[in-house]
Formats: sequence, structure tokens, C-alpha cells
Amino acid sequence: MKILVLLAMLVSALATSVSAQVQPNMGTQNWDDFVVASPEHVAGNIYKVVGGVIVNMAFSVGEDGIILVDSNFQDLTGQIIAAIREVSDKPIRFLIDTHSHADHADGNVSFGETGTIIVAHDAVRAQLANPPRGEAAAALALPVVTFPEQVNFHFNGEEVEAFHVAAGHTDGDIMVYFKGSDVIHMGDVFVGHYPIIDTSRDGHILGVIESLNVAIEKVSDNTKIIPGHGDVAVREDVIEFRDMLLGIYGSVNSLVAEGKSLQQVIAARPTSNYDAKWAGPQGSRGIISAAYNAARGE
Ligand SMILES: [Zn+2]
Repeated sequence: MKILVLLAMLVSALATSVSAQVQPNMGTQNWDDFVVASPEHVAGNIYKVVGGVIVNMAFSVGEDGIILVDSNFQDLTGQIIAAIREVSDKPIRFLIDTHSHADHADGNVSFGETGTIIVAHDAVRAQLANPPRGEAAAALALPVVTFPEQVNFHFNGEEVEAFHVAAGHTDGDIMVYFKGSDVIHMGDVFVGHYPIIDTSRDGHILGVIESLNVAIEKVSDNTKIIPGHGDVAVREDVIEFRDMLLGIYGSVNSLVAEGKSLQQVIAARPTSNYDAKWAGPQGSRGIISAAYNAARGE
């Protein structure tokens, strides 16, 4: 029931936004009734915990402490920490943001205040300090370690690669690969519906495809894959998602080459083979617009 309510909120937030490309800002939502469920063991050191707007956070547990991937909404921090404490009472030493959207990074301040080191792509710090919409984040919410391409952790007996490929969902996207546990968190580059391409943060559909290709090369058929939103998946699911985007981009590119306008491209229904599985609550307009802009070289 709660998930249905959240989906309805997500739909209305998208429907009322000026553009379907815009990520809903749920930061002012009242989360009093929301319950963060117990963590789910994924593999090796890694657990998944689900926050508001069905966002997947991940955390690594072991002798060295805890690495948390994404912080979700600040109002849910108490519940998120309580969920982590069901598994480990070690200190939360690092928080890695997969990107700057509020449903992934609004809770940063709660962790920054207690001395957790926040790590993210360079662009995430800039966007939190000076967002395209809404208020600037508090100083303690800003990542203190930032990087342009990749940073490696040596933690809980395994190597952990946090890496950026291209501007895709946003230009600050990173994925986090726990190599020993063989689990990757892909942020919102890979989700259970058409990806949102946030052009206010320089997102680009071809960057999503490029990022997916790198992840597909990096992982194996045994790797457990945590999407930004949706169920734990495997490599084959990411290949299907990449092929869906290539299919949509190819169709839209052909229509643009014929001189079609955006309205004509939408009317030609280039996503019709995919909508049943991937349209989700936000529909197909956003992904068609993203493919149209990319096909025009924008
Ligand atoms: Zn996002």
C-alpha cells in the first residue's frame, strides 16, 4: 500500500513538473508514516536497504566498519541507521553518493554531522552547493572527498571501485563495485523503468548507454546488481535495459533523419515495443525527448 502511495506521489510530481525530464524533489514530503524495512543480504559483505521513493541504498559490513551507498531523505536517517544497526554496530566510516538527487543525497547532512566521510564525483559537490533548483545543501552535507573518474577503497577485506563513466542520468553519476563480494550499485544509470535524463544536470541518453556498456564489461553473470530503484538484478537484465535504450535511440534517430519533429516522433510511438515493461508511472515522453535531443546532436 505504501509503495502504491509513493508511486502515486511520484506520478503526480512528474505530471505537474514542467518537463518529464525533471527529477521530482520529494525533500519536503512528510515521511512520518514511512517504514524503512530490515536490510536484505545481497552477497558477501553487502546488504541493501530501501528508503523513500523506493531508493536502494547499499552498505558494506565487516571488521573495518561500514561503507554506505546513498543517504536517501534526511527525515528517514534515524530509521535507516536503525536498519543498519540490525546488522552491525560498527561505525559508518564512509558515505558514497551515486549522484546529487535529493532521494539519494538529502540525508548527507545527518552523516556529515557525525563524522562520516562523504565521497562523490566532483559534480555532486558542486550541484549540492549550487543546485539547479531548490536550496543549497548545508556545509556538512557536502562531500569532502571528490574525484573526476575513479576512487578505490580497500575496506572489509575487498577492493571497492567507485567510478564515473559519462554524463548519463546526471553528469555526476558514479557506480560502486564491491569486487570481492561481487556486487555493484549502479545508481540511477540502471533502474526498473525508463531512465530519467536530467538535462538540468547535463544528463544525456548516450552517456547512460556508455555507462551501461562499461558496467556490462566489468561484471560477470554471477554479479549481483543493485539498481538505483527496483529489484536486485543480474548482468542479463542490464544488457536488456541497454538494448532497450539502443532500440529506442535507433528508432528515434531514423525518424529524425527523415526530418520528423518531436511531435511527429512521439506520434510514431518509437517506444511501443518497450512500454509494457519499462514505461512505469512516468510514461515514455521523457525518454523519447532525450533520444530526440541526442539524435539532433544536442
Ligand atoms: Zn536520480
